[in-house]
Amino acid sequence: MVQRLLEPGEIEALDHTAIPRLLLPEARSLFPARAARLRQLANNQIKGIPVGETLSGYLNMMAVLVDAQAAVLHTLPADTFALPDAAGIQQSIDHHMPPLPVSGQRPATWRRVFDAILDQLDAHAAAQPQLAAVLAELRALDASDLEGCADAVLAELTEGVNPLHAPFVAAALQVMWTARASQLDGRSVQPLVTNTLCPVCGAHPVASAIRIGGQSQGYRYLQCSCCSSEWHMVRVKCSCCEGTSKVAYQSIDQELEADNKANDPSKVARAETCDECHTYRKIFNQEHDFYVEPLADDLASLALDLLVGEAGYARASGNPLLWFNAE
Ligand SMILES: [Zn+2]
Ligand SMILES: [Zn+2]
Repeated sequence: MVQRLLEPGEIEALDHTAIPRLLLPEARSLFPARAARLRQLANNQIKGIPVGETLSGYLNMMAVLVDAQAAVLHTLPADTFALPDAAGIQQSIDHHMPPLPVSGQRPATWRRVFDAILDQLDAHAAAQPQLAAVLAELRALDASDLEGCADAVLAELTEGVNPLHAPFVAAALQVMWTARASQLDGRSVQPLVTNTLCPVCGAHPVASAIRIGGQSQGYRYLQCSCCSSEWHMVRVKCSCCEGTSKVAYQSIDQELEADNKANDPSKVARAETCDECHTYRKIFNQEHDFYVEPLADDLASLALDLLVGEAGYARASGNPLLWFNAE
């Protein structure tokens, strides 16, 4: 998603009527970039997203999981990520349905991805007894347990899902969907009736980002929690109910650097709250931090969740790499 910065003259020359509606993921660069960002966040190197010690350990563990996601994309044969036939894709698009839906039947090859991720993680298990224990539990799941867990993860149900297992299952599903989404022809994918779900797979967004560079300059995109596609939604609009009248922003107070407005850390991470549906999603601003990564930044900014949670807003949807018990 990182694009070349434009010179002022080039920005004026852009056709602003042609907002790219959909940015498909680049599967091979997405996961390494996310792992690197998670490590920077864990080391408390990102101004605007302060991270404490407890969360730091978790972010480092998730960085190892994202490394494994990146690795299996290279090691598994390409047919693991085969697209549905062209007629099936076209039929979905004709009916304004997502071409790679998270609901319904999924390719059985996702379990190959899951096994490969566990194998990648074995190298780290010796040094991390907690990880070793989770890996042993995950390997003990039979096919029907695993499919049940995948159903719950894709439906974003917290009941019936072991919160320690869910991130690993979600990681395999993410690789499966991201690898396939990256092979689509983005121009053919149509918006859904609701703009609050991913046009490629129908999953919820994890967070949103204001992008810079190219035709996307200054526009806000929602990033899919499953296939990592990003789709355009105008700014100052609730990404849950699409209301526009009661949207507000909250951020964690920072010591501002007054003469450095382009890198204002208080504007990197904000919660976009809505008083119509009483939910929020976070919005990260690439104008203030070039390497913004919605999923990683969302995971690392738990302090912001606490702040808006105390103010009475509920998260519009979860983060696939962090699950809480139903209670
Ligand atoms: Zn998606
Ligand atoms: Zn709303």
